[in-house]
Amino acid sequence: EFVQALTMAGSEAVPNEMNEMSEADRKRMTMKETRESLPIFPFRESLLAAIKEHQVLIIEGETGSGKTTQIPQYLYEDGFTADGKKIACTQPRRVAAMSVAARVAEETSTKLGNEVGYSIRFEDCTSERTVLKYMTDGMLLREFLGEPDMASYCVLIIDEAHERTLHTDILFGLVKDIARFRPDLKLLISSATLDAEKFSKFFDDAPIFRIPGRRFPVDIYYTKAPEADYIDACVVCVLQIHTTQPRGDILVFLTGQEEIESCEQLLLDKTRQLGSKIKELIITPIYANLPADLQAKIFVPTPPNARKVVLATNIAETSLTIDGIVFVIDPGFNKQKSYNARTGMEALVVSPISKASANQRAGRAGRVSPGKCFRLYTAWAYKHELEDNPVPEIQRTNLGNVVLMLKSLGINDLINFDFMDPPPHETLVLALEQLYALGALNHLGELTTLGRRMAEFPADPMMSKMLLASEKYKCSEDILTIACMLSANNAIFFRPKDKAVHADTARQAFFHKDGDHLTLLNVYNQYKDIPTHSQQQWCRENFIQSRSMGRAHDVRDQLQQLMERVEIQIISSAGDTVAIRKAITAGYFYHAAKLSKGGSYKTVKHQQSVLIHPNSCLFEQNPRWVLYHELVLTTKEYMRQTIEIESAWLTEVAPHYYKAKELDDNSGKKMPKGVGKPGGPGLARPGE
Ligand code: ADP
Ligand code: MG
Repeated sequence: EFVQALTMAGSEAVPNEMNEMSEADRKRMTMKETRESLPIFPFRESLLAAIKEHQVLIIEGETGSGKTTQIPQYLYEDGFTADGKKIACTQPRRVAAMSVAARVAEETSTKLGNEVGYSIRFEDCTSERTVLKYMTDGMLLREFLGEPDMASYCVLIIDEAHERTLHTDILFGLVKDIARFRPDLKLLISSATLDAEKFSKFFDDAPIFRIPGRRFPVDIYYTKAPEADYIDACVVCVLQIHTTQPRGDILVFLTGQEEIESCEQLLLDKTRQLGSKIKELIITPIYANLPADLQAKIFVPTPPNARKVVLATNIAETSLTIDGIVFVIDPGFNKQKSYNARTGMEALVVSPISKASANQRAGRAGRVSPGKCFRLYTAWAYKHELEDNPVPEIQRTNLGNVVLMLKSLGINDLINFDFMDPPPHETLVLALEQLYALGALNHLGELTTLGRRMAEFPADPMMSKMLLASEKYKCSEDILTIACMLSANNAIFFRPKDKAVHADTARQAFFHKDGDHLTLLNVYNQYKDIPTHSQQQWCRENFIQSRSMGRAHDVRDQLQQLMERVEIQIISSAGDTVAIRKAITAGYFYHAAKLSKGGSYKTVKHQQSVLIHPNSCLFEQNPRWVLYHELVLTTKEYMRQTIEIESAWLTEVAPHYYKAKELDDNSGKKMPKGVGKPGGPGLARPGE
């Protein structure tokens, strides 16, 4: 039950021919006409002139106006790349980089990977010919390591700047610096929201180019009372819209793959029950791990007499624009990294979005005609419980990875790095301490040889350390596999609700008594021995997601090349699980926990209560000492991917972090002396 609260105003009547067109007209439009109908097109010449006049330009324009797909093309058409230099356009999300590159390749009638390509972690779809390169912000950051002056680029576009991801924020500081000694390099900072002033200020008062958007009014509805189960509420709301509202597609914002899949299942069940009593409802999910061919489905125009419902993560908030959306359902949550700088623990948490995000989401309903946004929370909650703006990622994440990267770039003075919003001091200190404990930095805070090798891997420092430690423990082949299986984001096993028992039995058949990492290793090793043509069937029979396995396989190839680059021989442990677990411990020793009362665990350093995840093969076995891969916070704090270890390994692999005394099984809860006190990693605290 909803109450209507207000109508979000549209923009001043910008004439919009596109909206009066019928679907059939639109289909007949040529690619050229489609491009020319975008809000950015009338500004093509003035935009190009502004770019020529200024080295740094902030571009602000509503989502869907054509910034991402058109600006690189305009530059290309205008001859910017004539001397063979490339244009980079960064995206905070993998899916956006791939999808936008595919679109631009189509618009330019080229094959993806030729003139237009993309580069994301573990996947490089570019060639010698590529001049328009869409890439994740993390990949551009990585390219700085190999090419600190960005000499092969003529234009860098930091797109979706308003998202303020960690990598984008670090890029701001680096590109600002590089623009000073490369006067020929153009820098474009493009953003969907109103942060332009802030960006302009950071970039020495760079001019702002505004692209007026087209926006129709959107009616906003709130629920009268809080919803107990927002997935259920979404399903009800979708069906209500479908049965009572005129034409127009629906966009639902959910927090991740699991939610999307269960919502999809519920919708399929319901629509099947209703059968021919309702019009066709086309359900299309979109999230990061979805394979590219299925991602493309969200852009397929809806046939007349049907309605499309897109179940999306935050990716549809600003990164991707889906035409034809008239209804938005916003439960008010997204999944965010949260970080406790005291304990150094990072977890993924479903959290309330900000008012700014809520308004972006609502805006998605008003692109093609007046729209409606259904918020599955109360007007009171909107007003009193949502923050105004999202917190930049740099202030809520572990900085280990970027600190390692900046150190490899020779940037030692991190306190004085040019941050748009600096990270909390203790987070920086902790990152340095962790890198010190991992052996990546020496006591002066300088990069060690190990640290330099770790920086070669596009991975978390703990994972890089684990990979490197596999050399010493003679199990590089096994660890390589484990690393790529861990990077599949828990999407290896498949557990449909109606076959949960079968799925669990199948999963249990892979269990290894020493823990989940070895279970994953089992899965991969069996998979790789199956002939390629029967792999899919094997996956289906074993309730394993074959796409995730395919991706794990690709990632493994990439990682193997990186291992070879740092001259690690690929050798198998021949089943020595102690060696394998020691190598894991060498990377993840922070994540050690000890059994306490009633099957619950306490992390060793900070005495935080955590539990073994019910899906783990160690669930209910309760070994005395365990190591986990990550923490997830749902109703409880769970360790996901856990192995059994011996406490002595901790002092063996991390002697400057763990002291035998604190691991003494009877020593109680005394807090150990930390590293990083005076004499620890070299970061001067202000005033010291
Ligand atoms: P902005 O970056 O300003 O948000 P975009 O350049 O991403 O805008 O989008 C411009 C237009 O291109 C939108 O109408 C969008 O729907 C369309 N578009 C983008 N990617 C695709 C795709 N993969 N398939 C079809 N249309 C797309
Ligand atoms: Mg864009």
